[in-house]
Amino acid sequence: DTQGRTALVTGGTSGIGLAIAQRLAQDGLQVAVLDLDRPQAREVARAHDLTFIGADLSRREDCRRAVDETVAALGGLDVLVNNAGFQHIDPVAAFPEDTWDAMLHVMLTAPFLLSRYAWPQLTRSGQGRIVNVASIHGHVASPFKSAYVSAKHGLIGLTRTAALEAGEQGLTVNAICPGYVRTPLVEGQMADQARTRGLTVQEVEQKVMLEPAAIKRLLNPEDVAALASYVVSPAAWGMTGAVLDLDLGWTAR
Ligand code: NAD
Repeated sequence: DTQGRTALVTGGTSGIGLAIAQRLAQDGLQVAVLDLDRPQAREVARAHDLTFIGADLSRREDCRRAVDETVAALGGLDVLVNNAGFQHIDPVAAFPEDTWDAMLHVMLTAPFLLSRYAWPQLTRSGQGRIVNVASIHGHVASPFKSAYVSAKHGLIGLTRTAALEAGEQGLTVNAICPGYVRTPLVEGQMADQARTRGLTVQEVEQKVMLEPAAIKRLLNPEDVAALASYVVSPAAWGMTGAVLDLDLGWTAR
């Protein structure tokens, strides 16, 4: 029975996060979405009937406040989906240091802090869930993505560690590792790469992004949401510490 369960999805007003939030709401959970406090993000949450929590996950105090506000708004917290993230592309030797700090904070430290602060809530029902949206870049690297690849590798380590600690309390902790998903983040990258490589966006999609994939088609956010829905469901009680690839066959070779 998922009625009455509550969820917080970070980065939940765009792309994969929004698809997960919508799917969990359809599944009968009460869902809050956390995102940077911008009029457009508030509007997306309102339009989808989701509670909005404004916070900047690069700031520790915002992580604390976001958990408190979510618990106050929903009356508890059973499911935490750490999804917020962003990309920056530069060689290591030129990578902006403040950007490195912000990326590690949003994609690794914030999932740790939110898990830490929400832990008493997440362990209450005996069917709590933490779902960390990592990436194929949690397993393998690509050049010029040092902060992203480092944060995602770290997030898999956090997932496995927390899973070992949470087992006795019925709280599962899992990571989902998508390949390329058609979202604003990826469409921005495709446009950038088309510019820098002198290719069309279609050529970037087929020849650059999907080159290592067995299935040459971008995923949709709903495909990731369907996997998250299963992981969150009571049926998945025995799956924990898992690193779930949804990668078009990328890492099969
Ligand atoms: P997106 O840009 O559509 O959404 C990311 C969301 O995170 C945005 O709403 C953004 O505002 C929010 N966010 C960024 N910085 C934040 C901050 N400091 N505080 C609060 N919110 C912040 O991107 P997406 O493609 O949906 O990506 C979602 C997650 O999935 C990311 O962690 C990304 O690394 C991961 N992922 C994406 C793909 C892909 O191909 N799109 C593949 C693998 C993994």
